[in-house]
Amino acid sequence: MSDLMTVLLVTALCLLVISVTIVRKLTKELPKGVTRRRWFILGGLILLFFFGYLGFFVPKYGTLYTAVEILVTGILFFGAVFVLLVCLLAYRTTQELKRIYVLEVETITDPLLGIFNRRYLDRRLEEEVLRAKRHKLQLSLLMVDIDNFKMVNDTWGHQIGDLVLKHLTQLLVETLRHTDIIARFGGEEFVVLLPHTPESEALKLAEKLRIAVEKTPLHQIPELSMTVSIGSSCLLPNGDNAYSLLERADKAMYWAKREGRNQAVSFSDCEHAENPGSHPLI
Ligand code: GH3
Ligand code: MG
Ligand code: MG
Repeated sequence: MSDLMTVLLVTALCLLVISVTIVRKLTKELPKGVTRRRWFILGGLILLFFFGYLGFFVPKYGTLYTAVEILVTGILFFGAVFVLLVCLLAYRTTQELKRIYVLEVETITDPLLGIFNRRYLDRRLEEEVLRAKRHKLQLSLLMVDIDNFKMVNDTWGHQIGDLVLKHLTQLLVETLRHTDIIARFGGEEFVVLLPHTPESEALKLAEKLRIAVEKTPLHQIPELSMTVSIGSSCLLPNGDNAYSLLERADKAMYWAKREGRNQAVSFSDCEHAENPGSHPLI
């Protein structure tokens, strides 16, 4: 077999390998969807090229090559090298993006509970406040704190304490809407951001959550009763910011604690109760 034939055969085999290994591996990395389908089609086309290359050189087997044939062989060879490099690069890029995605998820997720952490909440809270101000939308916030959680740890141990935290997380996810943003604020405190939600609606959701927690025992230890205190606040029309929205919910939550725990209280209600003459929202 002449050297040119060898080059063509190797080139054709290279296309076959690209199609059945690299492109196949790449499609496995991708989620189902348009991009994955298009890579399947591309893999099929590369396979077609493989047969095209065979079709070009098999009839010429054993004959001498003209200058044009030498040129075409060169073009086919470099074409296959180009396809190989593009596919390898695409595969590497997909893996890098996947790694970046995993890292990004890890930096914004609480490792114990699998919900958003404080870092994500801080960023998202700023964004939601800006959005609500710009488009004049309602925005409310809940601060949820487990009552007497230290006693749970002291009585049942830290591992059961962790189970209680997981149990509450599940109730938060089940009770609230999928558009609400649930984050662990720290320890046994959670913050729920409620976009497009007026204060009255937020308080209803808080009460629904409070009841769900009170009525749903931990199935591993049914005698362990858990309650939460919840404070709610809403974004005020003028000069409000993320920090004071959070601070008002925190004050309302402490008001709920002071009033005996296992309560949902809105900041405007507790402020009104402290200063009966003031407007509830000013
Ligand atoms: P209150 O009703 O006033 O909120 O009382 P509390 O006991 O819930 O509040 P306190 O701040 O005194 O105690 C919170 C406890 O939460 C103390 C800490 O050990 C516990 N804690 C914080 N993070 C974790 C955690 O990840 N796992 C467990 N098991 N306990 C935690
Ligand atoms: Mg607590
Ligand atoms: Mg606390």
